[in-house]
Amino acid sequence: MSLSQGRHYLAIPGPSVAPDRVLQAMHRPSPNIYRGELVDMVATLVPDLKTIAGTAHNVAMYICNGHGAWEAALVNILSRGDKVLVLGTGRFGIGWGEMAKALGADTQLLDFGPHSDIDIARVAEVLTEDTDHKIKAVLAVQVDTSTSVKNDIQALRTALDEAEHPALLCSDNIACLGCDEFHMDDWGVDVMVAGCQKGLMTPPGMAFVYFNDRADAARDRANMATPYWDWRPRIDPDYFYRYFCGTAPTHHLYGLREALDMIVKEEGLSQVWRRHAVLAEAIWAALEVWGQAGPVRANITERDKRSNAVTLVNFGPGNGLRLREWMEANYGVTLGIPLDGLDAPDDYLRIGHMGHVNGHMVLGVLAGLQAGMAALQIPHGPTGLEAAMKVIAEAA
Ligand SMILES: *Cc1c(COP(=O)(O)O)cnc(C)c1O
Repeated sequence: MSLSQGRHYLAIPGPSVAPDRVLQAMHRPSPNIYRGELVDMVATLVPDLKTIAGTAHNVAMYICNGHGAWEAALVNILSRGDKVLVLGTGRFGIGWGEMAKALGADTQLLDFGPHSDIDIARVAEVLTEDTDHKIKAVLAVQVDTSTSVKNDIQALRTALDEAEHPALLCSDNIACLGCDEFHMDDWGVDVMVAGCQKGLMTPPGMAFVYFNDRADAARDRANMATPYWDWRPRIDPDYFYRYFCGTAPTHHLYGLREALDMIVKEEGLSQVWRRHAVLAEAIWAALEVWGQAGPVRANITERDKRSNAVTLVNFGPGNGLRLREWMEANYGVTLGIPLDGLDAPDDYLRIGHMGHVNGHMVLGVLAGLQAGMAALQIPHGPTGLEAAMKVIAEAA
């Protein structure tokens, strides 16, 4: 029999769980988009968005998903034919590069594969060899959601500086902003992209491009720039209708305000990071014990290279698919599918643990996985759940 009736839990790596408060904040009559309450409220979003990214520079808001933010970032800094160095550690890093190529950039891909992080030494070599500075931008993802690897963005800045290379450092933080620690200005990131539907707990539909003055100087030359994606009018709130290049995403903005209240004003960003870290550790503790007597293992071996927002797990031949189907049909939890780029995708599933997640949600997923492994006769160390509980008991 199925035990899936009850409140369903979508534990995929985006869209994440939207808090009821966020949904309720969106449930209202349409506001005036030219003056008054909405316009005043939107001004309050900008400082909080900057706090979450650790920047005093600029943030442009767009009505789009993460792919839109990718395109927005690229067209504001590039001209057709510009060389771009793309650092692949999974589907998303590679995808951002493919978009740059489709827009007319001359891309060079360094692909580190789906099981490791960016090899900084290799990047440093390529930068040092580029003596006439043909490379205009370096594209990296902090967390590639397809592999759950976390890259060392700060080390890329060091590599650029040591090579005395002027290329812009661009980071995709769509998966991990508000989950994994990030400091845009301290780490010397020139452009960063994020979406609202993962760590920022708001239904999909808004995305953000952060940029500093070096990146904005590139905007003067960029011949890919188009009116809709131009970031300049979007940091000038004087004429609000232009700020969003048309009608503002009224209800999303109210939802986002509520989510930012929860993150910045109530829980506090460092506590939000800490919560994600403990919940991720609980997941990894379970995986480690399960793996002691079975095929289970986290895709990324080294813990400090794993994201606190999402975990890709290999459960052994065909078992990722079987467990996902079992969890959905019998247990009321939907887990993330594997994305392109893995040799045996059916071995894997992804656990989203970003945004509005707490101890009972994570333990509930782990308990379901352990029950599912028992039901499907997938060998596993029997005390994984206890190991996860211990992490939570010690942290709480
Ligand atoms: C989700 C995600 C994207 C794509 O975002 P969409 O909103 O689906 O377009 C890009 N990069 C990363 C790292 C992501 O996690």
